[in-house]
Amino acid sequence: MQAVAIEVKNLRKVFGKLVAVDQLSFKVMESEIVGFLGANGAGKTTLIHLLLGLLTPSSGSIQIFGLSPSTSRREILSFSNFASGYISLPTNLTVKENLQVFSRLYRIKNPEEKILSLLHLLEIDHLQNKITGFLSAGELTRLCLCKALLNDPKLLFLDEPTAGLDPNISDKVCELLLELRRKTGLTIVYTSHNMRDVERLCDRIIFMKSGKIITQGIPLEIVQEFKQKSLEELFI
Ligand code: ATP
Repeated sequence: MQAVAIEVKNLRKVFGKLVAVDQLSFKVMESEIVGFLGANGAGKTTLIHLLLGLLTPSSGSIQIFGLSPSTSRREILSFSNFASGYISLPTNLTVKENLQVFSRLYRIKNPEEKILSLLHLLEIDHLQNKITGFLSAGELTRLCLCKALLNDPKLLFLDEPTAGLDPNISDKVCELLLELRRKTGLTIVYTSHNMRDVERLCDRIIFMKSGKIITQGIPLEIVQEFKQKSLEELFI
C-alpha cells in the first residue's frame, strides 16, 4: 500500500487581514504527482512555503512523511527539494559553480559526475561555464531543476517550474519528471497556471481559489469541469 507523503489538515495562513490559505485539508500519497492550479493570488506559493517550513501556519497542521516542517525542517530538506520558476541563484557564479556550491550545501561527496549527468539530462551541459546572471529564463529554470535534483529527493516541490519556458522545453521538463517518477518513485507537488502541463503530468489536480480548494480530481474530470464552467468562474 502507498504511504502518505503529505497530510495537511485545516491549514490556514493569514497575512494581516488577508486569508491567503483558508482551511485546506488534503493528502498526497507517495509517488503521486499532484498539481495545484489557480489564478494569481489563489494561495499556491503560500501553500508551498508552508509545506517547506518557510512560513509558519496561522493554524492547522502539516505532516511530511510524518514530520512537521515547523520542527523538522532540516530533516525534511534532507530528502526533499524545491525549484521555482522565480527562484534566485547567485548570479555571479557559473552554472557549474552554482551546482558545486549546492552540492557542498547538500553534503554530496564527489559531486562532479552527478553535476555533469544532471546538466546533460536537462540539456544545458553546453552552458556549464556560463555566468548564471546571463542565462535566459528557460535556461535558468533548467538550472534550478538541476539544483533541485542534486540530492536525489524523494519529494519535490515545484512552484511554476515551467513559467517562462517555451512549450517545447516545457514538454521536455514534464517528460523528465514523469521519467524520474517512474525510475525513483518520486513524489511531486506542482503549482502552475498552465492546464496543459498539469494535464499531462499530474495524477490529480487540486484547484484553488482565494486560498480554498474549490474542486479536485483526475485531470480528465477537471478538464470536463473546465468545459462546463466558465473560465471566469474558476479563475476570477
Ligand atoms: P501567483 O499565481 O500569482 O504566483 P499564488 O496562487 O501563488 O499566486 P500567493 O503568492 O500564495 O498566490 O498569494 C496569495 C495571497 O497572499 C495574495 O493575495 C498575496 O498578495 C498574499 N501574500 C503572499 N505573501 C504575502 C506576504 N508575505 N505578506 C502579505 N501578503 C502576502
